[in-house]
Amino acid sequence: MEFNLMDTGKATDDNSEKHVSVLIIGSGPAGLSAALYTARADLNPVVLTGMELGGQVSLTYAVENYPGFPDGVGGNELVEKFQKQAERFGAQVEFDTATEVDLSQRPFLVKTYNSNYLADSLIITTGATPLHLNVPGEQELTGRGVSYCATCDGWFFKDKDVAVVGGGDSALEEAIFLTRYAKSVTIIHRRDELRAGAILQNRALENPKISFAWNTVVSEIIGEDALKTIRLQDKISGEEREHPTDGLFIFIGHRPNSQIFSGQLEIDKQGYIIVDNMMRTSVPGVYAAGEVADPHFRQVITSAGMGAAAAMQAIHYLEEDSPSSIQQSLVAEAKP
Ligand SMILES: Cc1cc2nc3c(=O)[nH]c(=O)nc-3n(C[C@H](O)[C@H](O)[C@H](O)COP(=O)(O)OP(=O)(O)OC[C@H]3O[C@@H](n4cnc5c(N)ncnc54)[C@H](O)[C@@H]3O)c2cc1C
Repeated sequence: MEFNLMDTGKATDDNSEKHVSVLIIGSGPAGLSAALYTARADLNPVVLTGMELGGQVSLTYAVENYPGFPDGVGGNELVEKFQKQAERFGAQVEFDTATEVDLSQRPFLVKTYNSNYLADSLIITTGATPLHLNVPGEQELTGRGVSYCATCDGWFFKDKDVAVVGGGDSALEEAIFLTRYAKSVTIIHRRDELRAGAILQNRALENPKISFAWNTVVSEIIGEDALKTIRLQDKISGEEREHPTDGLFIFIGHRPNSQIFSGQLEIDKQGYIIVDNMMRTSVPGVYAAGEVADPHFRQVITSAGMGAAAAMQAIHYLEEDSPSSIQQSLVAEAKP
């Protein structure tokens, strides 16, 4: 297969394989920011949306910590603007999901439900999925009292009563963070001891705003337009009771969406794709950005920033280091 795209960047259909300069897997803040930057470099990036166009933030009712929107902005509206801006410069958004990749060949092969793509460079922005309780009411009340992010939503619960589900480090860190705003924080944990480190445990146990419901699980989340109460079940006695609360923060883990890259890229124990500070993965020409490569910050702005950085590196790679650019400069040098 010849590398024929560096001059146009446009997708070509060759034996039903679409050859593109830049393929972006994922359409959240990281993917759409990468799309904007590579589109403005005239590389006509293709963005595969996956099942969730706009990513996790599209689920949330209001985003108040993304600069440029002094009155806040709906999560869906924000990512629609991201998409529109990238499309204005030529990004092509495809409603499709990557199912398999081969990063050992050049161009890289990405199989989707509908096509096979050959990509000179790849930007992976498949995000992460906060683990859900999977109880009635959870989906309906997400963004209406149910949250997976204290940094994002804690401010909405000033002087309110909130509950936190989980017993690990992130649950305790977020619970302690929430005490800045909330009147009370009840930590609901299914065991009688915490998994979090000792220092965090002590801080939580000593905090006068925090109380614990041990050996307890949430069996239902109740409310119409907004969360009103949660049904709790005692795991030992089986007894159920209602616990009125204004907010429910669920921190029972995060799963990076990196499974299809396993064995082909370096991935850490928790499943995050390992990148350096230039967003480079272990395979030259493949970049990763946003929550799939970020166990720490997990915000729209940080994911978008990583997406922009990955795009700038991909642009540089295509100009200087990719097999096609090397081939082109050899051809130019050979000309009399
Ligand atoms: C309810 C909720 C509220 C939030 N509120 C805020 C807030 O107010 N402020 C804030 O800064 N942050 C907020 N966050 C966090 C923020 O949404 C994330 O940090 C951000 O969306 C991460 O962006 P991302 O692009 O890395 O990944 P994601 O947003 O997770 O997007 C991943 C994308 O990859 C796609 N994908 C996955 N697998 C495949 C595949 N195999 N093929 C193709 N595509 C694939 C998905 O469909 C999706 O489009 C919130 C999160 C949640 C869950």
